[in-house]
Amino acid sequence: MTSPGSETKTLLLGIPSVDEILKGPDGRQWLARFQRKIVVSAVRDVVAERRSALLAGEAADLTREGLSADILRRISALTSFSLRPLINATGIVIHTNLGRAPLSDKILDNVLEVSRGYSNLEYDTASGKRGQRHTHTRSLLRDITGAEDALIVNNNAAAVFLCLYSLARGREVIVSRSELVEIGGSFRVPDVMAASGAVLREVGTTNKTHLRDYENAINEQTGLILKVHQSNYRIRGFTKSIEIEDLAALGGRHSIPVMFDLGSGCLVDLRPYGIHEEPAVPDIVRTGADIITFSGDKLLGGPQGGIILGRKQHVETIRKNPLARAVRIDKMAIAAFEATLMEYRDAENAKKEIPVLAMLLQDRKEIEARAKKMAASLRKKIRGEDIRVIGDSSKAGGGSLPEIEFPTHAVAIRPSAVSVNELEQRLRQGLPPVIARIREDALLLDARTVRDHEIREIVAAVFSALSTS
Ligand SMILES: *Cc1c(COP(=O)(O)O)cnc(C)c1O
Repeated sequence: MTSPGSETKTLLLGIPSVDEILKGPDGRQWLARFQRKIVVSAVRDVVAERRSALLAGEAADLTREGLSADILRRISALTSFSLRPLINATGIVIHTNLGRAPLSDKILDNVLEVSRGYSNLEYDTASGKRGQRHTHTRSLLRDITGAEDALIVNNNAAAVFLCLYSLARGREVIVSRSELVEIGGSFRVPDVMAASGAVLREVGTTNKTHLRDYENAINEQTGLILKVHQSNYRIRGFTKSIEIEDLAALGGRHSIPVMFDLGSGCLVDLRPYGIHEEPAVPDIVRTGADIITFSGDKLLGGPQGGIILGRKQHVETIRKNPLARAVRIDKMAIAAFEATLMEYRDAENAKKEIPVLAMLLQDRKEIEARAKKMAASLRKKIRGEDIRVIGDSSKAGGGSLPEIEFPTHAVAIRPSAVSVNELEQRLRQGLPPVIARIREDALLLDARTVRDHEIREIVAAVFSALSTS
């Protein structure tokens, strides 16, 4: 290594020390606003960068303005959150990668209210004794679904695991081959089964399973009959599967509990909207299934959670299992669930107040009006680009209603100066990120999942994405 020449040495002396910067006017301001450790680390980094640049014979901006701007940029990077909001213009309502169900202000207000201070999470104010966190949502769930008993755990994967572990560990669980599904991530029915200590007993074939297949598999080792909602796929053609009613009756005859992992679990009847694939949870409860599990943040539109409904005797066993503690939900989720479930006291109210339901069931005219408003604002700000409103279809997402195309309206942009992929990437990497989809040679901004107040941000984002070339 050669030592720096005298010219570089002089330049190096021009870099202020960390201490000098911290004691200067900018440094004092930053220290008043941010944590000391963060400011010091940002200043150190920038000073070190300047030194290495000079030593490498590169030019380095040593002005106060230049240094301060870089240090402030570093502080912002260190203080900005990793998890942050973005705009979902994909039209996919229950987007697993984008946080699944958005919550209403009313629901969030309850979370804030309960979490800011102390609460009666596990305290019975009437008796002054210890209470149970499950009591806050239990009677609401019973009222809404008609189930005898209810329990909410951390997510549906945990619910399925806990039920299998509590009710069928070391015993056989009968499942149809057509229902050994993978949900995404790493949730695969056979793997969850193995982890729970239950022994998988597959019956039937990929396309057909008969009631006699279940019946023939029953023996003294049988602990549970399990039905799994196929969620994200369908088998078509020459098929047969057994309805939950028939399984419940079969289980009843043999005194074997029957469990249904519903996956999404919708609390309202969607049939008036032409959706027959997702029976409402109260109807499933009425079939006599002993245990029903589903997610809190799919079609229900609440926070993350796994809801377990069922006969008192089974839910009690599950609740008392030591592992129930390991997958219990926290007070913020309970507060969000209670407020969410409260909206379901009246199904018509839920369709308006639960964002997931409101977005899925919103009137096509409403979506079209929003798309037109978005297109008009975009055209006003951005001249000479091909921006138009088109009809298209969007998906429910979250493994729910995979075959249903919801008619929608989107703004289609065919950029003149950049590729559509480039535009998609710039929007995705902006602040806030705007997530769009591409169809053929156009970028689509689906108005179904865009809120009115987001239109301004979208316009600014598209403008800036098209201005930088
Ligand atoms: C989504 C889903 C799960 C997992 O639920 P999470 O709440 O995401 O843990 C389990 N089973 C089925 C059938 C599902 O669709």
